[in-house]
Parts: sequence; structure tokens; C-alpha cells
Amino acid sequence: MKLSLLCAMAGLLAACTGPARTPAPDAAPHTASEARPARPQNRPAEKPEAAQPAETPRAAQPDDKPADVKRGKLEDADEPEQKRALEIIERVTGLKFKKAISVYVYTPEDLAAEMKEWGGDFVPENILGFYKPSTKAFYLVPKAAGNKRSFGLRVHEATHALQDQHFDLTLLHQSVKTTDQDHALTAVIEGHAVQVMIDGLSDLSPHVARIADVTVPTDKHNPAAWHTVFYYAMGAKFVQALKARGGYADVHKAFGTLPASSEQILHPEKYTTEPDLPDRIELDIEAVKAAAPKGFELKGQDTLGEWTTRMLFTAEPATFDAAEALARGWGGDAEVTLATAGRDGKVIKLWVTTWDSEEEAAEFHAALAKLPDVRASARDKRVVTLVRSSETLDASIGEALMQAGGKARITLDPPK
Ligand SMILES: [Zn+2]
Repeated sequence: MKLSLLCAMAGLLAACTGPARTPAPDAAPHTASEARPARPQNRPAEKPEAAQPAETPRAAQPDDKPADVKRGKLEDADEPEQKRALEIIERVTGLKFKKAISVYVYTPEDLAAEMKEWGGDFVPENILGFYKPSTKAFYLVPKAAGNKRSFGLRVHEATHALQDQHFDLTLLHQSVKTTDQDHALTAVIEGHAVQVMIDGLSDLSPHVARIADVTVPTDKHNPAAWHTVFYYAMGAKFVQALKARGGYADVHKAFGTLPASSEQILHPEKYTTEPDLPDRIELDIEAVKAAAPKGFELKGQDTLGEWTTRMLFTAEPATFDAAEALARGWGGDAEVTLATAGRDGKVIKLWVTTWDSEEEAAEFHAALAKLPDVRASARDKRVVTLVRSSETLDASIGEALMQAGGKARITLDPPK
């Protein structure tokens, strides 16, 4: 299903937890074919705060302004809209807010100044509000949101505050180690906040209920728009599957036992009734280093997951229509990035992937010929190993790396 509504919702929701990460993938378009560096190097230097004991909520006071808030106007603590939003969220989720939340109202100029500090390619029109785990406050840009959308936005952002008070978003973000786990976590966080909007606001705005049914963005060739669909719509579908099983209590358990991969978001039954954990792949890093061409150094390791695999094919016109089917059957992967020094350094990626069946592995392997940056590839039953680089490579380099990839220790279908 495709809805123009998504445009509005993408704008409404994009980057709402942006500053927690660097940068939020849904707000910082980067080509789907470029995986981010290994997560630990990508982490902001935020220290986790100790879990707050439950306390009687009190109204936020102006002197609560956290140290790193330099702009915006602190909203009146008695704002009736805020009271109404919190009541809706508590009714829907069955969880209580432990603390009052400071709300700062930004002008578009405040937002522009803040975004400069975030860095990255944030699109101002896409950001109408955001929650910041580091300050425990949220920020609204009502001029950009317009009156109609600003209440839904408030409910969404306040739900992030509730998540943070109960599940500690900073610790959750620190717990993920790979691109794949990061996608899965973000889908849980955003899917939960969207589902609370759906359950709390559908009477007022029937279109809100349809957010979860979006499967294709309006702008099909914009990777950031696809990520938005994944986090908000597919994330909400995942949350709906948990909710159908055991209500919000089951949804909230997922913050304690996070989905292991984006595969489980895309196929919720692989989290609920037929658990499917990623295959374990341990690359022989010494062998990879020994096979690296002169001047190339190890830059990071990652697991990309089914969603990123699908986006690799979505980014190419020749494989666009088959992308979903090609990525389905993903079992696990491990990628290592080698690069030369300097900002414009050359990059080579060695990627070992595993598949649920030999047929799916063969299908994936055959489609690699249509990706312009694949320089070498081979299949051995359910394992497909490949080398990617934007530069053409000497055949001997590809061969040496493929052999190093062949030394990976692989455990297919690990015990649940
Ligand atoms: Zn959000």
C-alpha cells in the first residue's frame, strides 16, 4: 500500500529521537549502499544516567533547564495540551510517567541553530520535534508542525519520554553494536511511539491508524524515505504483532529483550512464535589483514542485516522490484571494511553472508551481478562471500580477500 499520507507522517516523525544518535539515519540521507562504520566508533559521548527511582511527578520549573539547553522557550508547566497528552499515553500503555517532562518550544531559527551542532545532513522541514535522552526534555517546533499535527507530535515525543523513564533509551542505544541491531532498536522505539499515537488518537484522526500500513514511501528512490517507512510503519507492525499476543505488557518486554535483527522486525513471527536468531559468523581478522592490499587498514566490522541488504537492491534500478524477495531468507552476515588513510580514502568491503536455504543463497548470489560495486563473489551452499568496492580491483586482490573470507567460522541456525 502506498499513501501520500506518509509524506506528512514522515515529516511529522522524522528525526524525533535524532540527537540521541549521530546522525539519525531517518533524518540523514546516506546512500543505502554505504553501511555506517562499526557502531562503537559512531556513538555519541553521552554518559548513561543512573535509573531514576519512581517519584511523585511535579511540574517542571524554569530552573530545571538542563545545562546543555541554550535555546527555546520552556513551556508553561500547566499547559493543558501536555496534561491531555500524558493522560492518553498512560491510558493506552498502562505505564505511568515517573517524572514531569520539560517541553521547549523552538522557533524554526532555534532548530536551524541546533541542527548545525548536530552535524549531518538533517533536513529542517522534516524535523518538527524531537526527544533528547541527554536532557530528558522534548522540543517542539509548532510553527513547522502546524496546529493540526502538533498534538499528535506531542503524544509521539512524550511517549519517547515515557520509554526513557522506564527503559533508559541511552543505555539501549549503547547496547547495540551493529547497523542491523541499531535498525531493530530504532524500529521498536519508533514503532511503539507510533502505535501509541494510533491507539490514542485514531478517534480524533482516523488517518493516523493507517500509518502502519504504509510499505512503500512516496519517494521510492530516496533511501531516507525507506528508512522512515521501516522505523515508523514496519516498526508499528512489529509492535502490533506483540500487542496481539499479550497487549502492551508484551510490547514493553521487547525493550528488555530487543529483537536480534531487522529480520525479526520485518517478519515478527521470527521474534514471537518461530524464533530465528542470526547465524553466527566470526571472520578471521588476521587473515583479512594479511590479504588486505598495501596501504589498506581495517576500519571496522559490522552486521548489515536483512533491511540493509534489501536497501542495497532497492538502490539499483535493475534489482529495485526484486529487492524484498532477494533479501528474504537472510540468515546472517559479517562485514569488514578496509580503507586507505585520508578523507577521500579508498574503501574495500569483504562481506560474508548466510542464507536460510541454498535456493535463497543462489538467488542472492545471482543478483549480485547486477550490483555495480561487487568485484568478486562465490557461493558455497548457504554461504555467499563477496567483495565490494567503488573502484575496480585487481583480480588477485579480490581473490586473496575471498580466501580470507572463506576462513570465517560459521554457525548456521544457532540454538535459540
Ligand atoms: Zn519518534
